[in-house]
Amino acid sequence: MPEHPAAATVATVAGVPVDTRHWIGGRRVASADTFADHSPIDGTELARIARGTAAEAEAAVAAARTAFPAWASTPPAERARLLHAIADGVEARLADLAAVETADNGALLRSHLRGVMPRVAHNFRFFADRLLELAHPELDTRGHANRVSWDPAGPCVLITPWNAPLMLATWKVAPALAAGNTVVLKPAEWSPLTASLLADIAAEAGLPAGVLNLVQGYGDEVGAPLTAHPDVRRISFTGSVPTARRIAETAGRNLTPVSLELGGKSPMLVFADADLDLAVELAVGQYDNAGQVCLAATRLLVDASVAEEFTARFTGRAAELRQGDPREESTDLGPNIHPRQLERIDGFVRRALAAGARAVIGGGPNPELGGLYYRPTLLAGVAQDSEVVQEEVFGPVLTLQTFDTEKEAVELANGTRFGLAATLVTGDRERADRIADQLVAGTVWVNCFFVRDLRAPFGGSRESGIGREGGDWSFDFYADLRNTVTAPKGWSDRG
Ligand code: ADP
Repeated sequence: MPEHPAAATVATVAGVPVDTRHWIGGRRVASADTFADHSPIDGTELARIARGTAAEAEAAVAAARTAFPAWASTPPAERARLLHAIADGVEARLADLAAVETADNGALLRSHLRGVMPRVAHNFRFFADRLLELAHPELDTRGHANRVSWDPAGPCVLITPWNAPLMLATWKVAPALAAGNTVVLKPAEWSPLTASLLADIAAEAGLPAGVLNLVQGYGDEVGAPLTAHPDVRRISFTGSVPTARRIAETAGRNLTPVSLELGGKSPMLVFADADLDLAVELAVGQYDNAGQVCLAATRLLVDASVAEEFTARFTGRAAELRQGDPREESTDLGPNIHPRQLERIDGFVRRALAAGARAVIGGGPNPELGGLYYRPTLLAGVAQDSEVVQEEVFGPVLTLQTFDTEKEAVELANGTRFGLAATLVTGDRERADRIADQLVAGTVWVNCFFVRDLRAPFGGSRESGIGREGGDWSFDFYADLRNTVTAPKGWSDRG
């Protein structure tokens, strides 16, 4: 008997067998070493995962390169059929995927069951259908026909974070495959499990070997060699700004195009004419996923004339949130992902309090639950240039600031290095349009939050990212666009 389940290649997580090895060229591949994957719910070791190195990165890119010509020349209708078959597989294993994801990253089981995993299936269906609807504009230039085509680009490296693992991975995998590319997926080391189930599902759906490859491991050990590989034609990354800088620098050496979806410090602007109940509901909703959401509107900017009323109602509503085991149906707020992340969150809060901030609610770990549970926190008395207003905390920590004029509201809203999203709560549509037009943000929500349409562009400005994905913008990134210009008939006739 091995001392650890270290040598095991299949772990049982929430009753579901999960292969802990890489998936390269249609085969499970082990590494010499493994790393431990713990559940944020109670800290138990869930599995030991293959710890990829440059050798596995090389093997995965080679497999993707080998599989590319056949997949690229597979007719779009057949590629679309296979993506729908993967979506069928996701739906058939919805309960397994949800249970494993919750065990692995601690987000709510009920959200995984009812929201996230159905959207994972939808990601495949949407890009399958969109592929068949892509416009191929035909333009006329003095009798010459221009025909625009979306050519597959080649092997794509997709690197994803831990906060919404399968959701964010499939956001990339689906359009990359639809566009005729082959893929190497590198999930985050803190939540690597559902990607392995996706590999099983894709294989069962009949996706040819090497079209989707999966490598597990740490970013610097296996992620970095993937991004440095000259045969990789696209890199799509969702994660932190420092890692994005490293990836962009590395990719720059090969001029590999990158799409970067990074962090945010998004504002929610609550105007005096807002429906305050709606504003409070939207604001409290920012604690979803224990605040580990890049889009979260973590800066509450409230008109000073309603700030007191807003704060009172917010405090009352937040007190109703039930924090606890994310597998329980009644839980609203689960644990944070990792001890290091909890420490980071608490560091931001402690420094803010030391600098004079006041905790309206929360302000530390939950003493009753212990572990990785952090109390939902609202900090008031924070300066615009303070760390907690400027830096992404990625935990259940919101800040409250007030404004007197629209101009001031816009200045505060735009006053960070980020530009991912913004939320406006107002009863005045003209005001909403006027303000939206002045904001630096990839998405602006008015009287709503998190309404996402896959047809719409998604991404961030400034340090929130480079590029947009969604709808045709995804194909714009994952395809090599070609224009074929043909002379009028007769021009080449030999007389
Ligand atoms: P976090 O989101 O935890 O702050 P990262 O942005 O570093 O951290 O992580 C997002 C993803 O990027 C993970 O899959 C991680 O393994 C990967 N990653 C980290 N460092 C690198 C790197 N140097 N090259 C490629 N990928 C990396």
